[in-house]
This record gives sequence, C-alpha cells and structure tokens, in this order.
Amino acid sequence: MTNARREYSEAETVALLSQVGGRCPLCDKPLFYKKGKRQFKAYELAHIYPLNPRPEELVVLANVPRLSTDVNDPDNLIPLCESSHAEFDKPRTEAEYLRLHNIKREALREERQRSLASQYPLENQISDVVALLHSASIESDLGVELALTAKSLDEKFDTTMPPPTKRKVRNAVGDYFRYIQAAFLELERNDPGCTELIFIQVKSFYVMQKREGLPQGHVFANLVAWIHARTQAQTLESAEAVASFFIQNCEVFE
Ligand SMILES: [Zn+2]
Repeated sequence: MTNARREYSEAETVALLSQVGGRCPLCDKPLFYKKGKRQFKAYELAHIYPLNPRPEELVVLANVPRLSTDVNDPDNLIPLCESSHAEFDKPRTEAEYLRLHNIKREALREERQRSLASQYPLENQISDVVALLHSASIESDLGVELALTAKSLDEKFDTTMPPPTKRKVRNAVGDYFRYIQAAFLELERNDPGCTELIFIQVKSFYVMQKREGLPQGHVFANLVAWIHARTQAQTLESAEAVASFFIQNCEVFE
C-alpha cells in the first residue's frame, strides 16, 4: 500500500515557511526569488520521514524518533530548496534524517514558545521603563555593590546558562540596575500597584518557562524576546537590560 501525498492549504504552507524563517534550513538559501516585479517560489515541501519509504530506508530509519506517526502531518514536513531536497532524499541517511528532525523539532518548540508568550499579558507601562533607557545617558554605577551583585547573580545561574549570557546579565545589572529600579519607583508613585502587577506578570511568564523545562539560556532569550515585542523597544539591548533587572530582582531564576 502506498501513501498518497496530501495537498496543503495556503495557511498550512505559510505556517511551514514561517517556521523556517523563509530560508532553506539546510543551506540558508532564500525560499523565494524575484524576477522583475514578481516573486517565485524556490522551495519544495519535503517529508522528513519519507512518504513511502523504500525497503532500504525502512532499515536505515528503523529506530529513528518521529515527530508524527502520520507522514502527511505538517509536523513531518519542512520546506527545503530544490537542491537540498534532492540531496536529502537520495540517498537518505540516518544522520541527515536526524539533523532535519532536530531542526524541525526546534522550529516547533520556538513556535510553541512564541504562541505561549503571546498569551502572557504585560502592562503597557513597562514601555516607559524601557523607553527611559534610551533617553538618558547612563553612567555605570559600579563599585562596592557590584561585588555583592555578581555573587548573588552567580548563585541564581545553573550550568544551563552559557557563560557569555551570564556576562551579559552581570554587565547589564552593573550598568542599569539602579537606574531601572528608580524608573519603577517613579512608575509606582504615578500609578500605585502597577509595579507589583508587572513583577507578578514577569514571574508568571518565568514560571511558565520553567514548567516547559527550558534551560536558563533559552528562558533568558524568550524573556528578552517577550519584553522586546511587548514594549516595542528600539533595541534588543534595552530589553536585555530590563530582563537582567528581573533576574537580579528575583522574579526570574531562584
Ligand atoms: Zn537548501
């Protein structure tokens, strides 16, 4: 019995393309090209686990993990450029299968994170705090306090936090912590209870990430992306500074 190839709706195809950011996940070539004023597609939807495995593929792929038992499920499909698709299909090896399987698994995970993040509210007023970071010249307030700060931060990090990210958080806390704290105090004076609400929202976002079992480096990246998207921050750095504040202030990591 052979499996028939399913047709995919436009919405399903767009979702698949957006999971890979419109680029071939194997060679990074764009999946569209432009000629004149028109855009053309340069991708094919590839089955990660083959639609109709050949006898030798049944052997090679006998023990591999799968993202769906239904080969036609969109979770088993990924857009590839034509040449990567041809190379992937012939001959199919276990290593290449696992590589694509992992890329797709990560893409699905990120998509799930984005949709979870979009459900978590964050008061608009946090934008004022982020905007302040752009409008003032901030002097680094290093000194005695930094030694204490660095120590308490180190206690919150575990081995899943990459060293460059630790350094980034430490620097941001050293440079901006007191400044952001002052901005929240100001906010609280103008709008009593608002700060507490924001802190609770951040904590709840963090707890949701923790429940997903994500490593600290991913939690930090997701927190930055969430703050960045919600505040329309002008730079990623200011969102990172505010995310770092929440680590030092104990809403995130413990
Ligand atoms: Zn390619």
